[in-house]
Amino acid sequence: MESIRSINVNYRGRFAPSPTGPLHLGSLVAAVGSYADAKFHGGKWLVRIEDVDLQRRVPGAAKQILDTLEKLGMEWDEEVIYQSRRSEAYRDALQVLNEQGLLYPCTCSRKEIADSSITGLYGYIYPGTCLNNPASPQNAHALRIQTNDEIITFHDGLKGLYTQKLCSEVGDFVLRRADGIYAYQLAVVVDDAAQNITHVVRGADLIDSTPRQIFLQQLLRYPIPHYMHLPVVTNAAGEKLSKQTNAASVNTAEALQELVDALNFLGQQPPLEILQGDIASFWRWVIQNWRVNQIPNGVV
Ligand code: GLU
Ligand code: ZN
Repeated sequence: MESIRSINVNYRGRFAPSPTGPLHLGSLVAAVGSYADAKFHGGKWLVRIEDVDLQRRVPGAAKQILDTLEKLGMEWDEEVIYQSRRSEAYRDALQVLNEQGLLYPCTCSRKEIADSSITGLYGYIYPGTCLNNPASPQNAHALRIQTNDEIITFHDGLKGLYTQKLCSEVGDFVLRRADGIYAYQLAVVVDDAAQNITHVVRGADLIDSTPRQIFLQQLLRYPIPHYMHLPVVTNAAGEKLSKQTNAASVNTAEALQELVDALNFLGQQPPLEILQGDIASFWRWVIQNWRVNQIPNGVV
């Protein structure tokens, strides 16, 4: 059965790699999935370099990622934005949250947090030490946001309903680290809003961050995008592919094969002849034939 392409010219998707190394099959799947879904809907696809954490940034990696995307025929529709240049926007957003009385300084060390917290599914749940016993803000401090017991719910495009109660499952989380670096959760929300992103398609390793992001979007009065979390590529040991697990980088000399591998992982079934064609014909096929309902949505 042919599924009907529903064109949505307002669709704005994005790919937001952290420049910690070259693309590998895992990050390529997020790139291909977000690009295919955007183009299938007739929308725009943007790229944002998430280099907010300067310590993790690898010199040259951002350029290498962009070069690879170009060689694979994935063209972005607007100027690439770099989180390292957006501190003012993050500071302003933090100010808005601060005016709501929701931020507090935290001077706890990693060890203190480890010793005093219970571990939830997503790591330590901060016990609110510095909320109950305010730290002196003169000392180097992180800024945390106070969470509450409202249940945050969203409908994931692949996994369906997802809910989380932040205060008991995640705890008060950091928005600015003691070294002054803005946290991913804040930066991603400010930037998705600044780029008017309507559809976030990314790896399922981030699904448990989404309720935190929706919480911030609500407080900052930003629109809440649609979310779809793609299956995560793992190696034989069951680990997520990453630089830390020595994932092989995408080989642009084998561009079509790399693209086909990513597409197959997403459950799409391109005809074998597609490997005899070129990149433009590959993408023509994908944009006509993208089927979200074929993406395996197994539990991660
Ligand atoms: N920069 C994040 C990563 O590379 C992705 C963030 C996102 O898509 O929200 O894992
Ligand atoms: Zn603390």
